[in-house]
Amino acid sequence: MRCTWCDTPESHRMEPELAFREDRCVRCFECFDDCKLGAISETDGRPVVDQGVCRWCGDCADGCSTDARLQIGSVMTESRVLAELACDEARFRETGGGVTFSGGEPLLQFDFLLRLLEGCRALGIHTAVDTCGAAAAHIVERVAKLADLVLFDLKHVDDEAHRQLTGSSNRELLENLRLLSRLGAAVRVRFPLLPGLNDDAAHVRRLGSMVSSLGFSDVDVVPYRAVDASVYEALGRRYPSGAIGEPSAEAIADAVRVMAECGLRATVVRREDPGVDDEGHREDGPYVCRPLSHPPRPLRGTDAQHHQPSAKQDQR
Ligand code: SF4
Ligand code: SF4
Repeated sequence: MRCTWCDTPESHRMEPELAFREDRCVRCFECFDDCKLGAISETDGRPVVDQGVCRWCGDCADGCSTDARLQIGSVMTESRVLAELACDEARFRETGGGVTFSGGEPLLQFDFLLRLLEGCRALGIHTAVDTCGAAAAHIVERVAKLADLVLFDLKHVDDEAHRQLTGSSNRELLENLRLLSRLGAAVRVRFPLLPGLNDDAAHVRRLGSMVSSLGFSDVDVVPYRAVDASVYEALGRRYPSGAIGEPSAEAIADAVRVMAECGLRATVVRREDPGVDDEGHREDGPYVCRPLSHPPRPLRGTDAQHHQPSAKQDQR
């Protein structure tokens, strides 16, 4: 599935990659020496990485004093992820928290995901899986049994409209949503509100009625946040032609009202503002934070509440 308005280009590839922010590069060329493989050379006065040679070790990013070079994603073993999460357990207990597996699409690495969910359960850490639901039914069923919460993104209920928006049919994911209903899984449907694409009242009502008829009580309305062109540029990708504007406060309120009329508790969930430093740079670089909401789950006999996971946790 590839949405025409995608706001997370850093999740497009399964392997790690390097981002380059030209405006931050001071042309010191110290990264040449940092790369033991000799993958970086000067082209037109810029440090350019030969993607055929680079093995994503991240040394050049670590050594860049201006953060012009950033490593996006990293290869991690299950034991390393769980060891890091175990270190955070006290913070989860203190602040009320857990882990959200997001992406991109976490079900693309479902074997890894299932092992991590099992590991978190053994550690007593609350888990949520943020998915579009496009996976084989047996995978969704196993995830539903291991995750404490499924955040299910639903963009359009009409199959043809869904194909136009994402390039894929919605039949499989709607089947999986019905499956989650039959399984009695804890699900929050997340509805990205896209101006001019899915925000007309008739469609919102159709979607809300369908979600309500499946026995789910909560829906998150997620107002679209305009794509930051600099994130695409840093990754050397073309800015999407399908980029759209942000919904008005009135459109958001209308969607919430219609969902409520469908018998749903609707919550507006906004992506976090990444923040901008004194020079106007995004403080989190190409990383994107997503706000999440979860019901509490006792942690090892406590009544700890769930917490907001970090952007880095979401990247893993
Ligand atoms: S990417 Fe960083 S280390 Fe390399 S030339 Fe630019 S500022 Fe220097
Ligand atoms: S990530 Fe590693 S291999 Fe790739 S260019 Fe940087 S230092 Fe070289």
